[in-house]
Amino acid sequence: MKHEIVNLSIDEMPKEWYNIVPDLPEPLPPAKDPEEGPSRIKQLENFYTKTSLELDASKERWIKIPEEVWELYVHVGRPRPLQRALRLERYLKTPARIYFKREDLSPTGSFKMNTTLAQAYFAAKEGVSRLAVETGAGQTGTAFAFSSKIFGLQCTIYFVRFAYNLKPDRATYMKMLGAEVLSSPTDRTEIGRTFLKKDPKHPGSIGIATAESLQDAASRDDTVATVGSSKNHVLLTQSIIGLETKKQLDSIDEKPDVMISCIGGGSNFYGFICAYLKERLDGRLKTVRFLGAESGASPRLTKGEYRYDFTEPSKSTPMAKVYTLGVDASLPLIRAEGIRSSSTAPILSLLRSKGMIDTRVYAIDEKDVFEAARTFLQVEGFLVAPESAYAVRAAIDEALEAKKKNEEKVIVFNVSGMGHVDFQGYREVLKDI
Ligand SMILES: *Cc1c(COP(=O)(O)O)cnc(C)c1O
Repeated sequence: MKHEIVNLSIDEMPKEWYNIVPDLPEPLPPAKDPEEGPSRIKQLENFYTKTSLELDASKERWIKIPEEVWELYVHVGRPRPLQRALRLERYLKTPARIYFKREDLSPTGSFKMNTTLAQAYFAAKEGVSRLAVETGAGQTGTAFAFSSKIFGLQCTIYFVRFAYNLKPDRATYMKMLGAEVLSSPTDRTEIGRTFLKKDPKHPGSIGIATAESLQDAASRDDTVATVGSSKNHVLLTQSIIGLETKKQLDSIDEKPDVMISCIGGGSNFYGFICAYLKERLDGRLKTVRFLGAESGASPRLTKGEYRYDFTEPSKSTPMAKVYTLGVDASLPLIRAEGIRSSSTAPILSLLRSKGMIDTRVYAIDEKDVFEAARTFLQVEGFLVAPESAYAVRAAIDEALEAKKKNEEKVIVFNVSGMGHVDFQGYREVLKDI
C-alpha cells in the first residue's frame, strides 16, 4: 500500500514539547562566563524573557504547550502533513522509500513559527511591548513579524544585509506585517557601527545581527531580544515537528533508516529528529541514522572544534560548549544565509561529540544543492527554500546510494521552508534561468 500523504487530526497533535536535556548520554555542559571581564550570566535578564531563560535551564522532559500557543499552532496549520515522494522515487529509480515533512506550509513560509509564537507569547505575558529580532535568511524575521502582530507587540528586525539585498521581497513581507526592518550592520548599535567603520558595505552575518538585537534590547526597558535557533528553549519548542513525524510514521508502520535536515543553529534538525533520538537513546531503535547537511562555508560539525566559545561577536552573552569555527571567523557568503553561522546548538554539539550525528558537507558554490531543489520542483512540484535544498540534496544522495546497494531504505527529510521569495539566489547559482 502506498501512502502519499499522511495527515494527523487536530486531536492527535502533541500537547507537550519534548526537552531532551534529561535524556542526554551525559550532562549538558553549562553556559559559562569567560575568565576575565564582567559576568555575562548575570546580564542575561537584560536581554531575554524570564520564561525563555527558565526553559533554557529546564531539566523537565515534557513541557506543556500553553493552550493559547497550542491553539495558534492549529490556526497556522498544524499538524502538518508528512508526504511520500513517490514521483522522486520513480525519477531516481531507487528502491528507497522517501518521505518529507511539510514545514514549508506555515503562513510565513517556514518552521520558525513553532518557536516565534511561543516566544512572542512569553514576552506579551511578561509585559514586554517590543521585540528586537535577528534574522539571516529572513524566515525568522517574517515569523516574528506575524507573531508580534498576533500578540500586539512592536517588532524591530535586524536583517543580514547580504540577504536583505538578495531578496528585498522578504523585507517587504516583514514590513507589510507591520515590522520595522533594518539592514544589518546598522548605525543604531555600537557593534553595528564597529563593523561599518571597518567596512561601510559590510555584508553582515547572523552573529552581527544577533549582537545588534542584544544591544537594542539592553538599551530599552520595554524590549527583549528573541532567539531564532540554537538555544535549548528554541530547540524544544521545535520538538512539535518530530513528535508529529513519529506519530505519522507509526500510523503507516514505517521506521526511518535515515533522517535528514539542514543545519544552521540546529533547531529544525533537532525538532525533526527528536522523537527518534529519544528512541535511540532509550535503546529502542538502534539502526536509525541522523544526517545533517552543512555548507562548506560553515562546516562546524564536520570541521569545527568542540570547545567553549562565544556565539556572537559582541561577546555579551555567556560562552557555550559548541562545535565552532571561531566566533570571529569570517565565513564565505552563500545564498542559503540561514545555515551560515560559526557555531551550532550545544545539544547537537554534545550529540555529535558522542558520535550520534552524521554530516555531509556541500560545496560553497551551491550548484549541486540548487540543482537538487530544481529536480524536486520539477518532479514533486514544491519550491523549497535554499536552506531546505541541502536536505533535498542529501536525501537524493542517500536514495542514489540505496539504489547502488539495492537497499529498501526508508529516508525521511524535513522541508524547513518554501523558496517563493528566493528566485534571485536560484538565478545567480543555476545561471541558465
Ligand atoms: C532558519 C532556517 C534554517 C536554519 O536554522 P536551524 O535552526 O538550523 O534549523 C533552515 N531552513 C530554513 C527555511 C530556515 O528558515
